[in-house]
Amino acid sequence: MPRDTALTLRDAIDAAIYSDETVAVASLVKTAALSDADRARICDRAAALVTQIRTSADPGLMEVFLAEYGLSTDEGIALMCLAEALLRVPDADTMDDLIEDKIAPSDWGKHLGHSASSLVNASTWALMLTGRVLDDEKPGITRHLRSAVKRLGEPVIRTAVGRAMREMGRQFVLGETIQKAMKRADGMQAKGFTYSYDMLGEAARTEADAKYYHLAYSRAISAIADHCVHGSVAENPGISVKLSALHPRYEVAQQARVMEELVPRVRALALLAKSAGMGFNIDAEEADRLALSLDVIGAVLADPALAKWDGFGVVVQAYGQRAPLVIDQLYQMAHDLDRKIMVRLVKGAYWDAEIKRAQVQGIDGFPVFTAKQHTDISYIANARKLLGLTDRIYPQFATHNAHTVAAVLDMAAQMRRGKDTFEFQRLHGMGETLHTIVLGAENTRCRIYAPVGAHEDLLAYLVRRLLENGANSSFVNQIVDESVPASVVAACPFDAAGPRPDLPTGPALFAPARINSKGWDLTHQPTLDAIERPARPCMTPVSSQGP
Ligand code: FAD
Repeated sequence: MPRDTALTLRDAIDAAIYSDETVAVASLVKTAALSDADRARICDRAAALVTQIRTSADPGLMEVFLAEYGLSTDEGIALMCLAEALLRVPDADTMDDLIEDKIAPSDWGKHLGHSASSLVNASTWALMLTGRVLDDEKPGITRHLRSAVKRLGEPVIRTAVGRAMREMGRQFVLGETIQKAMKRADGMQAKGFTYSYDMLGEAARTEADAKYYHLAYSRAISAIADHCVHGSVAENPGISVKLSALHPRYEVAQQARVMEELVPRVRALALLAKSAGMGFNIDAEEADRLALSLDVIGAVLADPALAKWDGFGVVVQAYGQRAPLVIDQLYQMAHDLDRKIMVRLVKGAYWDAEIKRAQVQGIDGFPVFTAKQHTDISYIANARKLLGLTDRIYPQFATHNAHTVAAVLDMAAQMRRGKDTFEFQRLHGMGETLHTIVLGAENTRCRIYAPVGAHEDLLAYLVRRLLENGANSSFVNQIVDESVPASVVAACPFDAAGPRPDLPTGPALFAPARINSKGWDLTHQPTLDAIERPARPCMTPVSSQGP
């Protein structure tokens, strides 16, 4: 459908999806407005935090595990593939084949005794033995012996590997039910943390799935409501929801249906959350759904029944070039409706998928930054922006990176923002030491985002965490590697700002052999308008068609 050509904020958001990285970063550096002295002070504070984290406590098991098995090793990749697939393989034979395929060819021995954690070393030992048993390439009697042991041992291996994967999942899931999760949350709450619960499960494939998740969210809100004993949303636990879980066709091509069916579902949940006095956050998902999500959010928020409630929250991803414009639009909505909303700033969890999708579609650009330091700069710039909008926005800074935390603390102090005008957030199982130190020293607020659900529903979430933490550019990965000095872990991203790295876009994928075929982003309104424009004169208006 052609849209009004006036350049609204929403049009600007559409137009900026593939905007030039260098230009976008230059503008963000200006927004961040940090002098050399500011940057040096932030780095010193971040390096001190890194040193404190390294000396003060055990990093989490997952962090140690990923330091040993990052995605730069074949073994790390094998484990990730296994974690991704194993728990949803229905039959034993396929499970055994999968384990054999992933475990046997890897060189586990070289990891033995490396890790500071005895648990990780024990896992390495088990994986190495499993690999040896499964590897029956060698000839002769040994081969026969191996295949005998393998046959006898298959159920044992299967159970052991399954357990290991479940344990990995437990690191990231607070509980299988909301009741169990809330019970487990008591410990951290006693230390001063609050929670936002997330019911695992996303991307409903059928209407039945969507109904199931809707019910799960409603039940969770009712259960959490019993724990909302404080007068303010900021002090009460909250809930995070994924729009993709609530509608099977949450996509641009189904815009009208989404507005008709998804909006009432989200509104019903938001009203429940409002009546309980809790925060209700809409998670950010893939870039091709961002514009659609803003339409849904705008329609829900406009409901007069939600007036005078400051618990509606939206997540903004700093790795997207559009983040500042999205914040502008959210501020505008809050202003127009005379509301106060929450905005959770994250870097973004779908980086690998966004890059791959843009390349596969043959698009000449990316909807996300392609250099890690550019995402870090964007985060800091948008954090400054949010701290300047606290009349309408309650910023929630979700990060596990000490430099990013130090930058937020520095800017908040510079701008004289009170400790209760914003909060930090972390994921369950991550960034615990950093945020415990900051909470104690700064008396700032911190909320833990805690996934709740069955292990079978964990996969998509687990893979995002593994990709994020296994990447050697990630903060969590670097902090456990003692060979990386604290000053390097806490290095200033502004010093490394530069042109876009040499990552081939869709058209250049097969260069120099040939140019790739042209691609179209059929979720992008300006592209859709451009395709439709030449055909428009030949289109018959619907009203003049016969019966
Ligand atoms: P860092 O190690 O400093 O940053 C890692 C991030 O940098 C990557 O995740 C990626 O975003 C970015 N990055 C990595 N490599 C590159 C590169 N080459 N070019 C450009 N950027 C790169 N994510 C969502 O998408 N939607 C959500 O709704 C959401 N909700 C969250 C809620 C909470 C409370 C928290 C803590 C996180 C949430 N996340 C969400 C996940 C979040 O995006 C990641 O945890 C976060 O990106 C990790 O950033 P960091 O500052 O902790 O770590």
